[in-house]
Amino acid sequence: MTPTSIIPAIMARPPVSETPRGGPVAPAEAAAHAGEDAALRGAAEIAGPGDRAALATQEPPAGQPSHVYPLGSRLNEAGHLEIGGCDVLELAREFGTPAYVYAEDHIRARAAAYREAFAARTDRFEIVYASKAFPHIAANRILSAEGLSCDVASGGELFMALRGGFAPERIYLHGNNKSEDELAYAAEQGVGHIVVDSFDELERLERMAPGQAILLRVTPGIEPATHAYISTGQEDSKFGFGLDELPRAIERAHRLDLRGLHAHIGSQIFDLEPFAKLAQVLSEICDFPLLNLGGGLAIAYTSDQDPPSIDEYVETLLEGAPEGVTVLCEPGRSLVGNAGVTLYTVGTVKEIPGVRTYVAVDGGMSDNPRPMLYGARYEADIADRVGGERMCAVAGKHCESGDVLIRDVALDDPRPADVLVTPVTGAYAHTMASNYNALPRPPIVFCREGDARLVTRRETYEDLALRDIV
Ligand code: PLP
Repeated sequence: MTPTSIIPAIMARPPVSETPRGGPVAPAEAAAHAGEDAALRGAAEIAGPGDRAALATQEPPAGQPSHVYPLGSRLNEAGHLEIGGCDVLELAREFGTPAYVYAEDHIRARAAAYREAFAARTDRFEIVYASKAFPHIAANRILSAEGLSCDVASGGELFMALRGGFAPERIYLHGNNKSEDELAYAAEQGVGHIVVDSFDELERLERMAPGQAILLRVTPGIEPATHAYISTGQEDSKFGFGLDELPRAIERAHRLDLRGLHAHIGSQIFDLEPFAKLAQVLSEICDFPLLNLGGGLAIAYTSDQDPPSIDEYVETLLEGAPEGVTVLCEPGRSLVGNAGVTLYTVGTVKEIPGVRTYVAVDGGMSDNPRPMLYGARYEADIADRVGGERMCAVAGKHCESGDVLIRDVALDDPRPADVLVTPVTGAYAHTMASNYNALPRPPIVFCREGDARLVTRRETYEDLALRDIV
C-alpha cells in the first residue's frame, strides 16, 4: 500500500497549536544557562561565522591535522597535536592511555549549527540529541544548556539524561522492547513523549499511563545507502509500524495523546535524497502537529569523506515538511562524533616483510568495537609526528585476530612508547565499550581553551570485581 492510498483510512487530525521547543532558549532557561553563553562565543570563534559544519569539511592548512579532528585542533609550536587547546602528549602523561579526549567546544559549535540552520528558516523545530551516541552526563549538560531536547533508548539513558539536566518534558523515550519498568520510570518522571513501537506497547502504555503523549514510530520502507546494521527504515525491520499497519495503530492509540509520527531511516547517511523522501512520505500520512525525522546525518571519519553540511541537511528536512508542523530531528553522531579522539600508546611494532607492519596499541576492540562490528574505517596519527608514509595496520591488544582498528594507515615511523591518536571516536565508542579480556575501560577527558577536566575516571581492576558475588 502506498502512503497516499492509506490517507483516507486515517482520521485527519487538526493541527494542534504547539509551542516551538527547539527555538531560542526561553528567558528563564536562558538565565539558568548564562554561563554557557561565553562558551558558545568561544565555539563561534573557533568555527568562524556562517555554517560551522561546512567549515569542518574544508581542507586544513598545510601541516595541520585533517578536518576529521575536532574544530580548533592544530599542531602547536612543538609540532604536537593539540585538542581543545591541550597538548595531546601532556594529556597522555597526565591521564594515561587509552583515553577518550573531547574538544567540548566542538559539541557546542555543532549544536549551534543545528540551531542556526533551523532558526534561519522556521520557529517550529526541536533538535533532539540522540544520546545513545554518547550518553554521558557532561555531554548531556552541554547539550541541555544549548537548548536541545534528548532522545533516550533505555531506562539507563533516561537516568543519564535527567542527571545531565534535560527537563523530563523535553525527553523522548525510544525502544522496540521497552520493559514495563522502563515505561513506569518514564511515566513517573514525566517524560514528555514516548515513541511507541508496537501494538503490544500501545496496549501496555494505555494500561499503565493513559493519556501519555506519544509518537508512533514508522518504518517507511526507505533504504538509505549505509551499513545494514545501522539501516532501520526498511520494511523488514524490528522497529516500528509498517505503512500498512499504521492506520490501525493510529486508531488503536485513542486512549493516548497521539501527537505525531517518528521515523529514523538509518545512520551515517551521505545522500540527502532519502531524507527528502522521508519528510514527504510522513507528511502525506496525516497532519499531526509533530514530525520527527530521526537522525542519521553522516560525518567524515576519513579525510577523503565530505558529508553534507548541517545547513544542507536541515534545508532538506524542512523542504519536505508541510507548513505549520513542528519538525524534529534527532542527531547523535553529527553532534559528538568528530568532537572526540582516542589516545593510545604503541607497545609493539611487528614488521612482516612484504606483508604488513602491525602497530599494536594498549586498547582495541574493547574501547572501539566499530571496526569489527561495521567494518568502520578510521585514520590515525602519531601525536608528535602527524602524517607520514609508512603503511601500517593498527592492532588492538585483545586475543582476537580480528582486533584490528585500522587495516591501512600511513604513519610516521611508529615506535614503542609513541602516542597514537585515532580521531572521530566521539560517538558510539565509549558507549559501546566493553571489558573484554577484563580490560578496564578508559577515562574521558574534556578539553577547552587549554584546560583539561576528567569527566569519567579510568576503571580499575577493583571495579572489574565489584559486582561479582563470591
Ligand atoms: N534516532 C534513532 C531512533 C536512532 O536509532 C539513532 C541511531 O541509531 C539516532 C536517532 C541517531 O543517529 P545518528 O547518530 O546517526 O545521528
